[in-house]
Amino acid sequence: MLQLPVYLDNNATTAVDPRVLEVMLPYFTTQYGNAASRSHSFGWVAEEAVDYAREQVAGLIGAVKQEIVFTSGATEAINLAIKGVYETYVASGNHIITCVTEHKAVIDTVKHLEKKGAQVTWLPVDADGLISPAALEAAITPKTILIAIMYANNETGVIQPVKEIGNIAKKHNVIFFCDATQAVGKIPVNVLGDNIDLLTLSAHKMYGPKGVGALYVRRRDPRVRLAAQIDGGGHERGMRSGTLNVPAIAGLGKACELCAREMPEEAIRLRRLRDKLEQGLLQLEASKLNGSVSHRLPQTTNISLNYLEGQTLIMQFAKQIALSSGSACTSASMEPSYVLKAMGLDDTLGRNALRMGVGRFTTEEEIDFVITTITNAVIEMRKISPQWEAFKSGVTQ
Ligand SMILES: *Cc1c(COP(=O)(O)O)cnc(C)c1O
Repeated sequence: MLQLPVYLDNNATTAVDPRVLEVMLPYFTTQYGNAASRSHSFGWVAEEAVDYAREQVAGLIGAVKQEIVFTSGATEAINLAIKGVYETYVASGNHIITCVTEHKAVIDTVKHLEKKGAQVTWLPVDADGLISPAALEAAITPKTILIAIMYANNETGVIQPVKEIGNIAKKHNVIFFCDATQAVGKIPVNVLGDNIDLLTLSAHKMYGPKGVGALYVRRRDPRVRLAAQIDGGGHERGMRSGTLNVPAIAGLGKACELCAREMPEEAIRLRRLRDKLEQGLLQLEASKLNGSVSHRLPQTTNISLNYLEGQTLIMQFAKQIALSSGSACTSASMEPSYVLKAMGLDDTLGRNALRMGVGRFTTEEEIDFVITTITNAVIEMRKISPQWEAFKSGVTQ
C-alpha cells in the first residue's frame, strides 16, 4: 500500500537512514562522553567516534581527516568559509566572485561582507543555469581573494563546471570555495581532482541527521587559513569552538560511508526513477524542463507548467505529494524562485515550477502515483484557466 503523502522533497532534507540512526544511538545513552575530555574513558570513546567519522567524511571527498572541521550544518560552514577567508585575506584584497544562483546561505553571507566593504562580482547564469568559466576568469583582478561557486544547484540540480573553475582559481592563485551540499553523496566529488580549497557538506541532505555538517579546509598547496567565527575552547583546531555533537557527527560519518559505498548503484536507480517521473510529466502540454539536461544531478528534476492562471499548482496536491516550487527557504513566501528567474523564466513559469528530488526511499509505485496525480491536477486546473483557453484557441486558429 502506498503511504501518503509521497515525499519528493529530498533536496530540502532526507530521512535518516536506519543504519545511520543505529550508529548514533549509543552516543546519546551509554557513550555520552565529551570528545574533549581527555582524562577518562567516556571522553576517549567519544573522541574515537569523532575521529572515525572524520575519516569517513574525508574519505568521501578525497580529503584527509585533518582537513575536516565539524559544524552545525552547511550554513554555518559556509559562513565560516566565506567570512573566515575574508577576514584573513582582506589585507591583500577585498574582491569576491560568486554567482546569482547560489544558495541563500552564500548569497546572504557575501551580501553581509559587501556591506562591510567587500567588492563583489555576481556572475549571471545562462538559460541552462550554468556560469561561464570565461566570464569568471575575466572577472579576476589582483584584488580577488575568493571564488565562491556551488557544485550542484539545490533547485535545479544543475552542476557547474567545477573542475574548470578550480583550474582557473589555481592558475590565478585565488581560493576556491565550493558549496557542495547537494552534490556530496550523490555524485563523485574529489577536492584534489576538482582543485577545491574549501568545501561544505551537510548530513541531512544525505540521509544523516539535521544540524551537523562539515567544512573541508585544504591543508597544503595552498594551506588555507580561516578566521574563526565562533570563539571558545579552541575545538576543531581553533576554527570552530564548541562541544562536538558526537551522536550527530557519528551519524554524518556513517551517512558518508554509505554514500561512498552505494553511490554507483543508487545513482543508476534514482536516475531511472527521475527520468520516468520527468518524461511522464513532460507529456503534459506547455510543460518545460528547467536547467541543463546534461549537467545535472541524477535525482533532481525541475519542471514548469504554463497556463495555470492565478493558482498555485503544488497546493492542489499538497496532501498527497510533498514537494516545493523552489528552495525550502523561499517557498513559504510563494515568490517565484530567484534561481529560475536568473535563468530567464518569467514569474508565471517560476511560480508554477515543480522542484522534485527522488531519494533512497522513493519507490517506483510512488513515481507512478505522482505522475498520475500531477497530470490530473494540471488538467483540472486548466479546465478553469482563461489563459489555457486563450492558448488553446490560439493553437487551433
Ligand atoms: C541545504 C543546503 C544548504 C544549507 O545546509 P544546512 O545544513 O541546512 O544549513 C546550503 N547549500 C545548499 C546547496 C543546500 O542545498
